[in-house]
Amino acid sequence: MSEETNNKIITVDCPTCHTAVEWLDKNEHRPFCSDRCRLIDLGAWASEDYKVPGKPATEWDMPDVPMGNDNNTLQ
Ligand SMILES: [Zn+2]
Repeated sequence: MSEETNNKIITVDCPTCHTAVEWLDKNEHRPFCSDRCRLIDLGAWASEDYKVPGKPATEWDMPDVPMGNDNNTLQ
């Protein structure tokens, strides 16, 4: 008899520090082990691949929202 199906926990390696991370809902930073490792990886990725001259980093924070929201129905 085997009840392995209930105990099946997927683990992944943290891309930054290679710690085994359990793939659970509570691990909100997965596949990273922590927010710190996530930021480190994002920073490395951003500085290496997104070296766009003359492009301010703040531009990535602005969502592309088209005109014409629900504003018409507010009044
Ligand atoms: Zn880590």
